[in-house]
Amino acid sequence: MRSDGVTTGAAITVIGQDRVKKFLRNSIRRKRLAHAYLFSGPEGAGMEAMAFDLARTILCDRKGEQACGECKNCMLAAGLRHPDIHVHFPLPVGRNESPDDEPLDRLTPQELETVRREVEAKALDPYHRISIPRANHVKLTSVRSVRRRAALGSFEGGEKIFIILDAHTMTTEASNALLKTLEEPTPGTLIILTTSDTDAILPTVVSRCQQVRFDPLGEAEISAGLVTLHGLDAARAAMIGKLAGGSFSSAVRLVREDLAGRRDAAVDLLRNVLHRPHREMVSLFDDLAGGERADALEVLLLLGTWIRDAMLVSSGRPPEVNVDDAATIGKFAAQYPDFGYPVAIDAIEEAVSDMRKNVYIHLVLQALGIRIRGAAAGARS
Ligand SMILES: [Zn+2]
Repeated sequence: MRSDGVTTGAAITVIGQDRVKKFLRNSIRRKRLAHAYLFSGPEGAGMEAMAFDLARTILCDRKGEQACGECKNCMLAAGLRHPDIHVHFPLPVGRNESPDDEPLDRLTPQELETVRREVEAKALDPYHRISIPRANHVKLTSVRSVRRRAALGSFEGGEKIFIILDAHTMTTEASNALLKTLEEPTPGTLIILTTSDTDAILPTVVSRCQQVRFDPLGEAEISAGLVTLHGLDAARAAMIGKLAGGSFSSAVRLVREDLAGRRDAAVDLLRNVLHRPHREMVSLFDDLAGGERADALEVLLLLGTWIRDAMLVSSGRPPEVNVDDAATIGKFAAQYPDFGYPVAIDAIEEAVSDMRKNVYIHLVLQALGIRIRGAAAGARS
């Protein structure tokens, strides 16, 4: 039970990923589940949420293609408290830790408290990214714990499920130990590895798992998830959907941030591009280019949503994303009746795509500035 009284039984919602869901449901129906899976894809696409959901479905009393969300096993699984679901993730190495220790044995009380808090957050939101200081690797002790427990029977007499998050962070020793477990699978056990970096996993480990690839989430899937799971209004959800880069974990992080403030800064930049002499524009862009690439990308994405809204307003419709900024958008649309919106939007989309391809950021921004000035002059180039 969550503190607000909402049962977590039905709380594991996997956003999008219909192809993967269909594939796994088929495997469950035909009783053709592999003994080990590798769920791989871009960070935040839902590999971890899907691993929890699969574990819960397998242990659900009703044995359907989907977890019922109501039985005792479903409740325990959703709270990450099921005795037959073992979740491992990167942890700090304890003082004088020996390979026979359990992974948490040598951690300090403070570290244990952080782990407890992070697991709780993960149980409430499977898209939460577990973050523990000094936790750089999935440790040998974690994998040895998997081996030991796999050899024992399950508590409830059903399957035993081991989930290893961020499997690409396994140390070499941990990978080799896991390899042995994968080579001699114990009946009644399922191992699910999740990763955003398959190339960093020992190829022999990869080849012993059935690999399931996840695509980045679509903007609309992310926005819909934010509305349903986080109660956001549609406009803010749409804005975050555009900024999240296909990752629901990034989207959830952005929920807590002051996007309106950053959007306003992006619009200031637009004004400067339109009104300042060329050399001042160059120096503004140099500042932007000198910072983090991700920040510059965010400025462009925010600006893109704003200009798209200005295009709507100029044709007599209300803004869709920057609803809170409707007055400013209206003034802009009135001030630039001939603004070449399609030209500016194309230019921004191209700049975003170039920046994601690591094209030299100064060049991208200079070209963008010139095209946006052209758009303001009503040029159709
Ligand atoms: Zn159930």
